[in-house]
Formats: sequence, C-alpha cells, structure tokens
Amino acid sequence: MAVSDHVDLPTFIDGVKKRNPGQPEFVQAVQEVAEDIYDFIADKEEYHKYQILRRIAEPDRVISFRVCWEDDSGNIRVQRGWRVQNNNSIGPYKGGIRFHPSVTESVLKFLAFEQTFKNALTGLPMGGGKGGSNFNPKGKSPNEVMRFCQSFMNELYRHIGADVDVPAGDIGVGGREIGFMFGQYKRLTNEFTGVLTGKGLEYGGSLIRTEATGYGAVYFLLEMLKNKGQDLVGKTAVISGSGNVATHAAEKINQLGGKVLTLSDSEGFIYDPEGISQDKVNWVKDLKNKKRGRISEYVKEFKGSEFHGGGARPWGVTCDVAVPCATQNELNGDEARLLVKNGCMAVSEGANMPTTLEGVHVFKDAKILYAPGKAANAGGVAVSGLEMSQNSARISWKEEELQRLLVDIMQGIHSRCVEYGTQSDGHIDYVKGANIAGFKKVADAMLAYGVV
Ligand code: NDP
Repeated sequence: MAVSDHVDLPTFIDGVKKRNPGQPEFVQAVQEVAEDIYDFIADKEEYHKYQILRRIAEPDRVISFRVCWEDDSGNIRVQRGWRVQNNNSIGPYKGGIRFHPSVTESVLKFLAFEQTFKNALTGLPMGGGKGGSNFNPKGKSPNEVMRFCQSFMNELYRHIGADVDVPAGDIGVGGREIGFMFGQYKRLTNEFTGVLTGKGLEYGGSLIRTEATGYGAVYFLLEMLKNKGQDLVGKTAVISGSGNVATHAAEKINQLGGKVLTLSDSEGFIYDPEGISQDKVNWVKDLKNKKRGRISEYVKEFKGSEFHGGGARPWGVTCDVAVPCATQNELNGDEARLLVKNGCMAVSEGANMPTTLEGVHVFKDAKILYAPGKAANAGGVAVSGLEMSQNSARISWKEEELQRLLVDIMQGIHSRCVEYGTQSDGHIDYVKGANIAGFKKVADAMLAYGVV
C-alpha cells in the first residue's frame, strides 16, 4: 500500500475533530503530536498500514461514573468521575487523578493521550491513563474531602489494580486525597497492593515522589542549558502556579543558584524582586498544604513584593527562564512573544500543555530552548514507576538512590529528545524529539501485537 493512499494531516485532524465533538483540549493535544509524527512516519509504511496514530488517538476505554456524597450540612451532592485508559501497550495504565471544576472528558482524554508518550519517554514500563472529577476541593472541610474520595473510589476500584491501572495525584489531589482513596481501596478489596502512587511513606510511598515533578522539570532545564554551555547560576526564573510542582521547581532552582521571581494561582501572581528564597518557598508550601490559603497572602508576609490580581499571569516579568507549573493553556501566543522579546532563553513545562498551540509555534520559530511537558515533567511519573517497583518487591530504596535515578531518567529523556529532535542547523526541537521518541516506543509495541 502506498503512503499516498493515506489521508494528509489536515484531513486526519478533521477526522479527529468530527469523532470528538466539543473536545478542544483533546484535539489540540492530538494535533500537536500529529504535526511531528506525520513527517516521521511519511516513509514508514507499517505505521500507516496498521493505522497506529489513528489507534493511539482513540482511548482503549473511557469510564464515566456518578459520584454522590453528603456535605457537612447534610445536602446530597452529585459529581461526575472519569478514568480514561488510553493505551497499555508498554505497561499498566498509569496517570494521575485531577479534582478541579474545570475537569471534563476532553481535558482527561488530552491528559491520558499526553501521558502515553510521557510514560514511554521515561523508559519505564508504563501505559497511559488519567482520571478525575469536576469536584472542587477548595473550601471543603477535610471530612467532606474524605467522603468524596471514598465515594469516588467506590466505583473506581473496579477498574484499577497494581497490574491493570495505577493512578496517582494531580491538580487538587495530593498526599491527603491519595491516603483517603488508598484507604477506601484497601477496605473494599482487602488487598494491600501498589494500586496508587504518591502514597504516604508510612504505607508504601516512595521518597522524593512529592518533589519529583518540579525537581525533574528543573533538571531537564539544566540539561538544555548545559547543552549550550550554560547553567542556572544567577539566572532569573518566572514560575506560575504555587502547588506541588511550582514549589518544588522553585526549590530546585534556588538550590542550583537561580533566583525565582514569581509564583501564582488562579487569582493572580506575586512578584518578589528580592527572589523567592528557600525560606519563602517553605512558607508558601505551608500556606498551600496546611492552611489551604491563597498566594495573595504572600505580600502581607514579605515586604517589597507585589500581588497582581484579576487572574493576571506572570509572563510579562522579564526573566532568563520560565517554568509554567499551573495548568493547561495558561501561556498564549502573545505571552510567548512577550517572553521571547524580554530575552527569555529557555522554557521548561512543569504543567501539562500549559502553552497554547500558537505559543508553541512562537517558541519553535524563535528557536529558544523549549521543553514540552511530556518531556520536562516526566520526573513525577518516573518516580511513581519506581514506587511501583518498590511496592512489588516490598522494599524501600534510599533517598540518594532515588535522587540518582531521577537525574538519570531526566538525562535519558533529554538524550532521546536530542536524538530525534536535532535539526539540520543543529537546533534541538524538543517537542518533535519528545513526540517521536515517545511515539516510536508505543507504536513498535503495538505493531508487535498485530491488530488488537
Ligand atoms: P496543585 O493542585 O498542587 O497546584 C496547582 C496550581 O495551579 C495551583 O497554584 C492552582 O491555583 C493553579 N491552577 C490550577 N488551575 C488553574 C487555572 N485554571 N488557572 C490558573 N491557575 C491554576 O497541582 P500540581 O502542582 O500537582 O499540578 C500542576 C500542573 O502540573 C498540572 O498541569 C499537572 O497536570 C502537572 N503535573 C503534575 C504532576 C504531579 O506529580 N503532581 C506530574 C506531572 C504533571 P488555584 O489553587 O487557584 O487553583
């Protein structure tokens, strides 16, 4: 069969849009990957013949379910939960759970699709999945969060398992929520297995899992800089978000000699010209994890800092490097142009798909160092993979060993991006490199299975 017998890229994307009406995030994620993969598979007939791209862009299954719970005033509340199992060609489904009012099937399908490539890039045997609910944990009491998590697990437990599908945390789901869900799973099944990652250290969690995504994104940033003969010493950094990924990215940048200027949440961003030092990062962690407070409170604590409200984003602050760590589509084309104009030389995505498609093209055209989330934030799932290994072997590895493995894995991902993303002029297109390297591993496994 000749390659010309197959549809061109615009026709393929049209098909994705038609089959997934009202799912813009999912279409965007597929388009970004397809733009790179189309070139790569142009002369590789087997991938066409077996419709590999078309099949990866169709989740193995999407499970949707009702989640009822009772609030503290005795009202019955009804939410929707999902688990998207995208592809298990190279290992059990693996990917986080997100609790946020913006969660839709489209958002979770995009995340599960991205996760498939990310997990392949780590070199560990993990397939791609994602789940969550439109439940808003903000303003809920600990008991309400517990009742919701238990009800969510009352359905989810049927679909997961240590060798089937292993969820973890994501936006709105941290150690507390994983504890509630793991406890309910254990109660329902009477089994103590590594069915969730991000667990507490007392019950099977791994050291450095909490830090891994933010640290990993900065290790990747450092690899890109090292490739240009540079490092982070004295460089200014703009970070968005103030949750798990953002605070640990800030921590690692401080450790490597950089200066962090901003953090944000959905209400706005704080700018601290003195730098958000480790003491201040610790204060933000406490604010977010224990007090469940807002980032605007920072300016009351630290004089000389500013809060920019109304949902303002930090991309107008002049910086050497930027690390978006909040959510999808939080950095648009104009903001990308502003960053480039102000001299930003590198962007490492801690969040998933934080840059719009237009913004991605701005970074690519400007040829700055730009690492997409599927490469840069893979450290979290990588340490989750190591948590699974420790659980299976019923052992716990030491912190130094895990730190070393995390650095190794991030360097390995960087090398794979360089292998597939180096252009004829020597510039490294990390998006292309990550897409092709991730795709190839999953695609080759799918070819081995035939048509299933
Ligand atoms: P957290 O819930 O700990 O923090 C999320 C942060 O992002 C908060 O500051 C939150 O502010 C902000 N945020 C969320 N939604 C929006 C929005 N619509 N607009 C502006 N700000 C928003 O989540 P994580 O740090 O775990 O996750 C952050 C990103 O990193 C996500 O894209 C996630 O998918 C990705 N990621 C996380 C991994 C992990 O290991 N945790 C692994 C790989 C990727 P507010 O409180 O106002 O909502």
